[in-house]
Amino acid sequence: MPTVPGQELSGHLNAPVQVLFSVWLTGQHLVPASFHLASHSSPLALSDGEVDFLWWFIQGSIMDADVRAHLYAHWGMCARHALSFFCVEAAFRPHLIHGSTILYNELMRRAVHLVAGHGVYGLAPAGVTRHRLRHSGPCHMCTLGYGPETPGNAPPERLAQGRNLTNARAFAVENCEGWVPYVCGRCAGNGGDVLCRPHLIEAMEHDGSTVLQHNGVTVSRIAEHLARFEHSFRWDSRGTDTAVDRGALIASIGWCAGWSEILETLPAN
Ligand SMILES: [Zn+2]
Ligand SMILES: [Zn+2]
Repeated sequence: MPTVPGQELSGHLNAPVQVLFSVWLTGQHLVPASFHLASHSSPLALSDGEVDFLWWFIQGSIMDADVRAHLYAHWGMCARHALSFFCVEAAFRPHLIHGSTILYNELMRRAVHLVAGHGVYGLAPAGVTRHRLRHSGPCHMCTLGYGPETPGNAPPERLAQGRNLTNARAFAVENCEGWVPYVCGRCAGNGGDVLCRPHLIEAMEHDGSTVLQHNGVTVSRIAEHLARFEHSFRWDSRGTDTAVDRGALIASIGWCAGWSEILETLPAN
């Protein structure tokens, strides 16, 4: 738990970043797209406290029923902590990013029931669906007080490994075809019509049914591929996952929490 805020972060990267996506798929159409990150943007720089918390988190505290309830109520965690969870898990277990996958598999399953019309809410008025897409509780880590300047007491080697983004970035590049098509047009500022959950809620204010119809396909595709990735963790299904299936994990994180932190931190090529 944080006790002395304000500690300097080591390994913080301040260099401005520019990311260019040459093209990406939006539905059935190839759409030229590019975006420049704001000059003040910088990749995720985790505090000691955040790394320490997430290390314990992936050791098993994520399985706690109360924690799960918080995660479901918030559709994961806030943009910063959703990405942090993935990056720390990738840093320590690059070939077994299982905690994030299980969590987002469940969240996307719920999203399909709401948005893609397969569940009991499929026949619900758009206003009801919009309400259910909102989160109903705070981010689990934010509410515990974790942020960019939270100190921690973990061994220096663990802190250094946990905030090392190399594995997360390699995963993003190798599996980019599974997430780049689903980057939210509003988060990226490129006018694309694929939307993340927060922007879907915003867009549904005016023409909920039409927006839902279009984005239902997106949600179904992401969920379908993530389910395949999750299934591949079983011993008898090992090796059955594709780059698109693995990339769906990043697509799910982006869909649930928004893409701002991801676009500042993970490269697509
Ligand atoms: Zn948070
Ligand atoms: Zn968005």
